[in-house]
Amino acid sequence: MMMSNSLEAIRQTIPPHVTLVAVSKTKPVSAIESVYEQGVREFGENRVQELVEKNEVLPSDINWHAIGHLQTNKVKFVVGLAQLIHAVDSEKLFKAIEKQAIKKGVVQDVLLQIHIAEESSKFGFDAEELDQLLSSGAFDSEHVRVRGLMGMATFTDDENQVRREFSGLKQVFDKHSGGSFDTLSMGMSGDYKIAIEEGSTMVRIGSAIFGSRA
Ligand SMILES: *Cc1c(COP(=O)(O)O)cnc(C)c1O
Repeated sequence: MMMSNSLEAIRQTIPPHVTLVAVSKTKPVSAIESVYEQGVREFGENRVQELVEKNEVLPSDINWHAIGHLQTNKVKFVVGLAQLIHAVDSEKLFKAIEKQAIKKGVVQDVLLQIHIAEESSKFGFDAEELDQLLSSGAFDSEHVRVRGLMGMATFTDDENQVRREFSGLKQVFDKHSGGSFDTLSMGMSGDYKIAIEEGSTMVRIGSAIFGSRA
């Protein structure tokens, strides 16, 4: 079967210290089941509604990753359900997550999204802003644990640019890593090999596993 071959091929290129998150957005439950049966337990979704619906019908030992931009009014559906929220891109969102985590009595793991791409439309903090926020204690919380950083490189064929952006993110990560700040989520289908070479500890791979999306 095509799908199992590509998953196996991808797995062989991912070293043991890097977590593979299979990005199943827009894909049917049956496709997720097939990848699940091959041993994958980490799945990523970017739409809250879809995450909630799939969680209801799929095995409970799946670890869900909320990978996309998250709206404050959707936070209540995600906190306690997602093992990891990848894209905290504002203090306001962090506070909303904290509020829900307190309400639900959980500790929510999150990543802070850092803006590394050239396109101005991408979400995230810039590196200086991050330094300032982290040192001011803005993200110190008993209910939200910042596990690290997430970033997306520019969508380009220029490998050197992609590498430069990932390498820049790794430098920011290294400044703050230690303790439970141990996760660097970078790399997608088109650029995960470069991301791993540049120090990624978690890759989010969709189309290379599940086929292209409509
Ligand atoms: C869709 C998506 C991915 C996976 O993209 P592919 O190119 O299909 O691997 C990774 N990260 C985020 C945030 C996404 O939205």
